[in-house]
Amino acid sequence: MAAEVIYGKQLAEDLRLEMKEEIAELSKEGVHPKLVVVIVGEDPASKSYVKGKQRASEKIGMASDLIELSAETSEDELLHIINQLNEDKAVHGILVQLPLPQQIDEQNVIEAIDPSKDVDGFHPINAGRMLTGQETFYPCTPFGILVMLKRAEVSIEGKHVVIIGRSNLVGKPVGQLLLNEHATVTHCHSRTKNLREHTKRADILIVAAGKAGLITGEDITEGTVVIDVGVNRVDGKLTGDVDFESAKEKASYITPVPKGVGPMTITMLLHNTIKAAKWIDQK
Ligand code: NAD
Repeated sequence: MAAEVIYGKQLAEDLRLEMKEEIAELSKEGVHPKLVVVIVGEDPASKSYVKGKQRASEKIGMASDLIELSAETSEDELLHIINQLNEDKAVHGILVQLPLPQQIDEQNVIEAIDPSKDVDGFHPINAGRMLTGQETFYPCTPFGILVMLKRAEVSIEGKHVVIIGRSNLVGKPVGQLLLNEHATVTHCHSRTKNLREHTKRADILIVAAGKAGLITGEDITEGTVVIDVGVNRVDGKLTGDVDFESAKEKASYITPVPKGVGPMTITMLLHNTIKAAKWIDQK
């Protein structure tokens, strides 16, 4: 039986409508959530991502600023700007688009952002809070995956989740979030032996490797829930890590690329910014 396709795009649109209403309500109370995105350099993919983030925030009535810095910006200059944003009471969320030019240490930048404005959820304080099961900002792509699974009413508790990938951005945090939801979690990575033995044992398979066609229908068992996080360009076409056509014949649920996980990432960024504004307002 062919899988039910989970369209993150549709869910993202629904959630953004809800957020638009929430922002309108908050503004009546004098709270105006504001996101500032900082980009360093001219990388076309990064530029297109930040434009998407800005457009999405404007569409729901969220205030947003884009700070564009030259590729020659020094780490000190960037840290100075972050400090100013940390101090600015009108700013609730700060996002520095990664990757950064090689003269800037990414970890120093991540750690310079006030954890209460860290809407990407990358600061070690927020990562630690997530690890210890506390309420905090969760990284946007992993959080988007969790919300997708919940909205599709996929049960997580006691299920075997196999994740391909262990990056700080996707693999590790999605594993932690699902462990917090009482899943049994296996992480596979580039040095894992006999990958298929693991993927075949998954109730929920999350593929975040950045390798087009890594997983096919042969690698999964009947009824697996397949979440494809990968974003690859093959012959000018956007594609995930999963061979959608063969996998959908066996999966119970599957996400497509595009229109799957991608739109949820920006949506969770907007969610985190609203959360930041509400938290700061309560202080
Ligand atoms: P990364 O390169 O930092 O990590 C890739 C991980 O996959 C590593 O842990 C590596 O060990 C593992 N891996 C690579 N090849 C493998 C193989 N053959 N077998 C098993 N494991 C393998 O990448 P990332 O930042 O975690 O992103 C992963 C993918 O998700 C990329 O395609 C990226 O573009 C995409 N992504 C999508 C979104 C979104 O919003 N849709 C957000 C972030 C990342």
